[in-house]
This record gives sequence, C-alpha cells and structure tokens, in this order.
Amino acid sequence: MSNINPAEHSHGIDLESALDFLNTLHPGHGRTDDQHQTDEHLERPTDAAMWFLEHDLVHPDAGIRLGDTDLARIRRVRSALREVVDSVVENRTPDADAVYLVNAVLEQRRPTRLELDGTALRIGHRHAETPVDDALALIAEAIVEELATGRPERLRVCANDRCRWAFFDSSPTGRRRWCDMRSCGNQAKAARHRARLREAEHGPDHAHEVRPN
Ligand SMILES: [Zn+2]
Repeated sequence: MSNINPAEHSHGIDLESALDFLNTLHPGHGRTDDQHQTDEHLERPTDAAMWFLEHDLVHPDAGIRLGDTDLARIRRVRSALREVVDSVVENRTPDADAVYLVNAVLEQRRPTRLELDGTALRIGHRHAETPVDDALALIAEAIVEELATGRPERLRVCANDRCRWAFFDSSPTGRRRWCDMRSCGNQAKAARHRARLREAEHGPDHAHEVRPN
C-alpha cells in the first residue's frame, strides 16, 4: 500500500481542450458562407473567466475576477500558442516573440512538487501568482507536452481556410484534413464537384480558373 496521496486538487487540461482554447478565436468552425468574419468567443473578461471555470482551470471558490488587462494578456498568450501550433503544422520556424511569451507563461508554474503531509508523501503543484497565470500555464503545458513527448505530427489545422480549426488527428490513418467531415469536408467536396461541373460546361479553356488546387 502506498502512502503517496495525489494532490487534493490536481486539475489539468487535456490536449483537446487546450486546442479548443486556441479555437476561441477562429474564422468560423464549419462555416459554409463566403463571409470572412472572425468569431471572438472571449469578447469580455467574463467570457474568459467562464471558459477557465468550465474547463476546471480555476477553483470555483476562487471568485475569479478578470479585467480588461487580463483579457488582453489571455488573448496575447492565445495568439502565441496558436503561432507555435501553426508553425509546427506548417513546418516552419515560429515567431521568436511567441516562443518567448509561451516560455514566460510556462515559467509561472512548476508543475510537480513533493509535499510532506504529516508522515505521508503527496504530490502537489506550485500555483502561479494569479489564477489567470495558472490557467494559462496549464493550457500551455498541455500543448508543449504534446510537442515534446507526444505526437506533434498529428496536430492539424482545418484545411478549410475559412475555418482553420486546430485539432489533433486521432484517426487510424492520420490523414484527416478537416475539423469535421460533415461541414468543412463536405464543403470541400462540394466545391470540387462544382468546379468539375463548370469545367465540363465551359470546356478546358477555363479549367485553369476553376481548378480548386
Ligand atoms: Zn473546419
């Protein structure tokens, strides 16, 4: 029998939720219209507080109150993480400022520590100075851990340019290109179908204009 107790409140976030944090800003999940409209789901500080609460990143009794400065920081960190994920997906070097910011966030928190609770040894973690820093560090950890020890080659950004939803491809073949086959996947298929019809109608002279890729 072990006398090691897990921390009383070992919260964390899985990769999918961490990627969904990036998707709180996106051009439109599964959007089928031609509008280039960006959806901001963290419009007010309370939206961010709710998101953290819903994902168990802050204690419900912490009474988290966020201001505009917090929201601005949350969005900056989100952009930095997005840049890192995009760079991996696009196989390019990330923006140095983004890496710097992600590291600053990670350094706010040392994930694991040994604590003596009377005679029992338990695993705890150090909290960052503020609940916001803590929440952001947990999100950053989930993503960076995947890059370091997971399967970064399975990170994807939806091939629909109007969507660009970030996700992890857990399909057996690892060839998933769209966030959702029913929306973005079918949309791409329909576009290819329309292009083929136009090609057939107008003849090969116009083929170069309508070929989707
Ligand atoms: Zn999509």
